[in-house]
Amino acid sequence: MEENKKCPACAEQIKSEAKKCRYCWENFEAKKIEKKKSKNNIIIVTICLVILVFLVSQYDYEGSDTITQQSITQQCNDFYNAPNICKNISPHNGSYPPINDFIQSNLKNPSSFEHITTDISDKWNKLKFRVYYYWENSFWAKTKEVQYLYVDKETLKIEIIK
Ligand SMILES: [Zn+2]
Repeated sequence: MEENKKCPACAEQIKSEAKKCRYCWENFEAKKIEKKKSKNNIIIVTICLVILVFLVSQYDYEGSDTITQQSITQQCNDFYNAPNICKNISPHNGSYPPINDFIQSNLKNPSSFEHITTDISDKWNKLKFRVYYYWENSFWAKTKEVQYLYVDKETLKIEIIK
């Protein structure tokens, strides 16, 4: 005996194997394919949304983390009141380019200079800099080094602290 089912469209009893309803011509196969299609569409839309959310979050992260030259100069001035030095502090890594140049030009292998970090502290009419950097010696060995320096707030003269 063949099993029957109720047509979802017209509620007549039809064979459970039927692909079309013989009373109302409802096509079950086409419905199935449509369902599958809409399922695929949902998956595609979800993937697009995930990518979009990821991109937006990346953008936000960069936006909130960007320090402008103006803000770093302002911060530096608030702490040290040394406008001529502060206006040249790099917003990217907090270094003072004239000091990087100074250290680099005194290396045996100047092109190997690689800035790591710079810290600043106030010493009355001078700023004290602590600079960590890499350089390569004659045997291409990458070496981490620290150098302490003063910069005069007025004359901008750089002086190594031994
Ligand atoms: Zn039907």
